Amino acid sequence: MHEGYSNHTITAYRSAKNRVDPYIPYHFLHETEPGLQGGIETVNTVFLTGKECAFKCLMCDLWKNTLDEAIPGAILRQIDYALERLPPAENIKLYNNGNFFDTKAISPVEYPAIAERISGYKRVTVENHPKLVNQHCSTFNDLLAGKLEIAMGLETIHPAVLPALNKQITPEDFRSAARYLAQQQVDVRAFVLLNPPYITNPYENIEWTLRSVQFAFESGAKRCSVIPVRPGNGIMDVLLKEKDYVPPSLDMLEEVVDKALALKQGQVLADTWDIGFLSRCAICFDKRKERLAAMNLSQQTAPNIQCTCKKDHG
Ligand code: SF4
Ligand SMILES: [Zn+2]
Repeated sequence: MHEGYSNHTITAYRSAKNRVDPYIPYHFLHETEPGLQGGIETVNTVFLTGKECAFKCLMCDLWKNTLDEAIPGAILRQIDYALERLPPAENIKLYNNGNFFDTKAISPVEYPAIAERISGYKRVTVENHPKLVNQHCSTFNDLLAGKLEIAMGLETIHPAVLPALNKQITPEDFRSAARYLAQQQVDVRAFVLLNPPYITNPYENIEWTLRSVQFAFESGAKRCSVIPVRPGNGIMDVLLKEKDYVPPSLDMLEEVVDKALALKQGQVLADTWDIGFLSRCAICFDKRKERLAAMNLSQQTAPNIQCTCKKDHG
């Protein structure tokens, strides 16, 4: 097992960032998600163009749509921009490609105005690193009219792989952050990876993803998003070439989600956002992606999609 790459090496392999406008979110959309109490809820998701995350995780490509420095007031203008264009929704996600409670990315001075803008939403989801779970989360929570949910990357609990991801956490850090948030009545959503670097056997990958999902639930997460790790951030392409990283297959994602749903310990969501790279068959890919999206909403397994390609790659 590799002992890990430094921030310097990880960033050295990066290509240029995308050109982004500091006053316009780089993406926003209206979607649906299963409610934690059942039913289906509408969500406005805003991908804010934030300051680049201070962490440099091995598998992360979120830096591509970030700024080098935060501009005071810009996040608020981006929220206004998106809300003027989005339809009404029950919930809102404000994802800033980093950590919402990194005060260098979003100043606490801006919390009251942000909270005021989103006061009509029943649930507010932001993303944050477990080590940045602190008093700022409670301060923001107190300002909100709706329920706060914090999405945190657990990534994997594999004892050799998690340190090599340069995430700078242990599973215990995730657990104690989740417990702190539960005390504050804040819901936790976990991000768990399928096929992180250094696990190259498909059975082991499925096993460790499921173990990590289970750990997240046992730590108090109410839902887990399973994220198939993709190449494309520079260092991941090196790992791919060196066979230290193997992209997952769609079959693996399906198997993990089927098995994680069967745990019945919380909601399981397949991240279908950017899974085009898993496509191996033009005939069944879209149908299988739709099946996963339907399972996300119903939280029940659905019959497998049959296709002649299954004979070829299992
Ligand atoms: S903490 Fe999150 S946003 Fe920051 S580098 Fe790691 S995965 Fe990317
Ligand atoms: Zn097929």
